[in-house]
Amino acid sequence: MHSLVKNYIVRYFGATANIEVPLEALDDAAVVNGIVLKSDSHAVKPIFFPGGDIGRIAVAGTVNDIAVLGAEPYTLACGFVLEEGLVLNDFERILASMQQTCLEARVSIVTGDTKVVEKGSLGGCVINTSGIGRRTIALEKNLEVAKRFRSRFEARWILDSNLRAGDKIILSGTIGDHGLAVLSAQEGLSFGSEIKSDVKPLNRLIQRLLGEVGGIVAMKDPTRGGLADALNEFSEKSHVGMLIYEDRIPVRKDVQAACEMLGLDPLEIGNEGKVVIGVVREKAEEILELLRATEEGKEAEIIGEATSDFTGVAMQTVVGGKRIISRPVGDPVPRIC
Ligand code: MG
Repeated sequence: MHSLVKNYIVRYFGATANIEVPLEALDDAAVVNGIVLKSDSHAVKPIFFPGGDIGRIAVAGTVNDIAVLGAEPYTLACGFVLEEGLVLNDFERILASMQQTCLEARVSIVTGDTKVVEKGSLGGCVINTSGIGRRTIALEKNLEVAKRFRSRFEARWILDSNLRAGDKIILSGTIGDHGLAVLSAQEGLSFGSEIKSDVKPLNRLIQRLLGEVGGIVAMKDPTRGGLADALNEFSEKSHVGMLIYEDRIPVRKDVQAACEMLGLDPLEIGNEGKVVIGVVREKAEEILELLRATEEGKEAEIIGEATSDFTGVAMQTVVGGKRIISRPVGDPVPRIC
């Protein structure tokens, strides 16, 4: 997917002049004339799964991609592609879920489109959501705090390329929950306890972190490709090494056990309600403290740091060795978002 985007899509649409954060930055969203813009298509299968549904992902996914640039999302557009035979009751359940998620995120859907296609392989429906977001006072405050602790820091947005050696990496909670919840619904598996998706809009939490503490320089929602992919993005774009510690990465016991049974690596599994945060060292403890005082961040951990000692991503394992964490090849669990 990564090379498809780089070698085809960016080749045709990239290299646009005067765009503040352009397509070729391959960040979570773009910035044009001070407005953050993002579009996302959602094809999760099945459309209902423990802890969520395609409608909730469609809203939260776009909201979170805008939020991790430091912006406040405020309005969305939504395109439905419905498969003939989709039960009207199911469609209504999806709409109600989108409405609820919009309320949580304090965004509204103001335009869109609906198409019906013949029965085939959609699995019910596909939803595209696009959204826009704007700068906030919280973002300005956050950048001022960051500038206090580092020289020549001119960034106007929270970008994957802003990390420097010494910055701390914080993960807002447990990983793998979403991917395994969808997998259990796909395959009819049960893992002894019910693993639920973490799908959730994080924009309000993120704005609090920016405005009440500050010093955040980079953020990503570790969706498809999981934590492994997010850390590799940080490392490549910021030209720093990333060192993380296995024993500090929060993973639920049942998720860990299910991964071992299925031969999956929780680091490579997608999440829909978590954020990876790069923050100046001096503010890491305060960010952690605020996160832990919230429902969605109560299991947050400082999982590592950016370093100039090596390039790429390495994990100090519990047994003492170091393991290279590379970008995942292919989707370990297909159609989870
Ligand atoms: Mg993202």
